[in-house]
Amino acid sequence: MSDVPKTHPRYLSLTLRDTIVAGVQQGITSIHGLIAHGRGEAFDYLIGEATQPFAIEAIHAAAAMLRLAEHPVISVNGNVAALAPEALIELGQVLNAPLEVNIFHTETGREQKIREYLLKHGASDVLMPTTEAQLSFIDSNRKFVHPEGIFKADVVFVPLEDGDRCEALRKMGKDVVTVDLNPMSRTAKQASITIVDNVVRALPLLCEKIPELSSSDATTQGILKRYSNEAVLHEALQHISRSGNGNQRKREAEPR
Ligand code: ATP
Ligand code: MG
Repeated sequence: MSDVPKTHPRYLSLTLRDTIVAGVQQGITSIHGLIAHGRGEAFDYLIGEATQPFAIEAIHAAAAMLRLAEHPVISVNGNVAALAPEALIELGQVLNAPLEVNIFHTETGREQKIREYLLKHGASDVLMPTTEAQLSFIDSNRKFVHPEGIFKADVVFVPLEDGDRCEALRKMGKDVVTVDLNPMSRTAKQASITIVDNVVRALPLLCEKIPELSSSDATTQGILKRYSNEAVLHEALQHISRSGNGNQRKREAEPR
């Protein structure tokens, strides 16, 4: 890790950068993941590096959708594994849902390294891609899935998703919950629920919300019925368009 002083105004952001770089060095994050992270950083800057009301609304709906799911599955890539392994594992525990490795670039045994990394952090089991089950509507390596995992899932939680696969999952009739700082990405637009927030902030909030909801009652169903992903993305864009003045001043006024 680099020696960023805690008093540095961009301390948290720089710490996350160190974490993602360490992920590459350990062979769990793809070098391409650094570019994806950079794009996320830019959008995080624009939203004020804080969880905004539109993200809270999506987190509540995501909690309801995952709570009501019959077979929820958590898809893990190299960025999210490096940034939030404990929170991913906790999400799996609160939902009683499997984690499944699914990545785009499969260089040098990275899938296996991600699995081992999650096991080391306390995951009880991690599903791996297989050639026995394949997603339709997709040509990349990400089509290979586990028959008891993503293939069978009714709801897939896919943070930092790739737009192609999000589209394929939706075409297969599955619901997709994503976390993506870019409200304009294809993923954000195609997912059933898009949490426009940094995955390191959103995941703990999601884990906290799920146990508060019942898996059957009308309140949980009501949260989902009232939710509009389009409206939430619109609010996120409105917020970003105001970020040249208000958000920026707010961030500068925040205690460090
Ligand atoms: P598409 O438009 O097809 O969805 P993309 O162009 O967004 O794809 P990706 O490689 O999927 O390409 O980019 C990664 C996405 O993840 C970006 O939209 C980025 O904003 C987002 N992202 C990166 N880091 C984080 C993070 N820590 N938390 C949440 N979102 C992130
Ligand atoms: Mg994307």
